[in-house]
Amino acid sequence: MNIHEYQAKKVLAKYGVPVPKGGVAHSATEAIYQANELGGDKWIVKAQLHSGARGKAGGVKLCTSHQEIADLCDKLLGNNLVTHQTGPEGKMVSSMYVEEASDIARELYFSIVLDRATQRVTLIASTEGGMDIEAVAEEAPEKIFTITIDPAVGMQPFQARQLAFSLNLPNVAIAAATKAVMACYRCLRDTDANQLEINPLILTADNKILALDAKMGFDDNALYRQPEISECRDKTQEDPREINAAEHDLSYIGLDGNIGCMINGAGLAMATMDMIQHSGGQPANFLDIGGGASPERVATAIELVLSDTSVEALLVNIFAGINRCDWVAQGIVDLLNKRDIDVPFVVRLSGTNVEEGQRILRESGKKVITADTLADAATKVVEAWKEATGK
Ligand code: GDP
Ligand code: MN
Repeated sequence: MNIHEYQAKKVLAKYGVPVPKGGVAHSATEAIYQANELGGDKWIVKAQLHSGARGKAGGVKLCTSHQEIADLCDKLLGNNLVTHQTGPEGKMVSSMYVEEASDIARELYFSIVLDRATQRVTLIASTEGGMDIEAVAEEAPEKIFTITIDPAVGMQPFQARQLAFSLNLPNVAIAAATKAVMACYRCLRDTDANQLEINPLILTADNKILALDAKMGFDDNALYRQPEISECRDKTQEDPREINAAEHDLSYIGLDGNIGCMINGAGLAMATMDMIQHSGGQPANFLDIGGGASPERVATAIELVLSDTSVEALLVNIFAGINRCDWVAQGIVDLLNKRDIDVPFVVRLSGTNVEEGQRILRESGKKVITADTLADAATKVVEAWKEATGK
């Protein structure tokens, strides 16, 4: 789960990371109130949505009057903002964050991620902040500095100092940068975050260190023990299809193609996606029903897959161990008794009670295309999709 910049800054501040003063607003009036609270005559007003690259998209603005603040809020609030990272439909600006403007001397990059290759928490820093870190990695990899954390001992102060020195900071700022880096690490560790990015981390004109932007992502499986983080959830920023599935305790992943998939288990999902692509199709999504799915659960899952308007063909691929093919088949038949499915529908069942499952499907007289193997299922669904759509 991701949270907004203003929420991340609040969490970080609790751990002692220096952040600019600011206040969140849900209307132009509230934004002006926040500016008054901050005082001064210059404010940075920032659209809050789960995306970076807002600056280039017009979502971050230096304002010097209340009118300017109000105009920006009226333009952005409640509307979708399209950035590099959101995809063409954009994401809704759910609130605005009004901050005191900072005087930037240098923009640096700092992040903490889980490196899957070393299986360790890794700190990344660069002198080239404020810009696309992927571009820096590509064009000037020598400007990126990384530190790997040994999980047995956690982050050591000398590592934070090394990182601070790697940023070529003036001596007076080294202690503050070291402290900020340590605080970020503690924050990540204690909140079960799996990602933290501060781009830019700045050196101000008077040699202070400040986190000017903040992005945090958390391990969904740990949210039960992070009530304060859980409360930050903003459903307007998430895929409605995935939220809907989560409410039924099903896990759903939206993709860009047009073949809807219901499977059991992540491994089978990956294999099915690959097989569909290999056969010349593109998956629209996959929904994982997990183990021991009842007929009701199967029917609900298929309805969720079908509620995705991009689905033009449907594949159910079940390799039953704990699951039962007869229950899956019964769920399919129950659903077909209730409603028509007007896209080609391929079912492949294998494993526990497969004969019984196939019998239920056969004797139902419903129009489903059955398949024996994964390869067979993928070929059939792609063929049926091509035939139905003429694509
Ligand atoms: P992003 O575009 O979504 O990553 O949003 P950021 O919060 O990183 O802001 C984009 C850019 O706006 C930063 O890289 C800065 O150059 C600029 N910016 C943000 N806050 C301030 C500020 O307080 N003062 C100044 N001068 N520039 C700022
Ligand atoms: Mn940024």
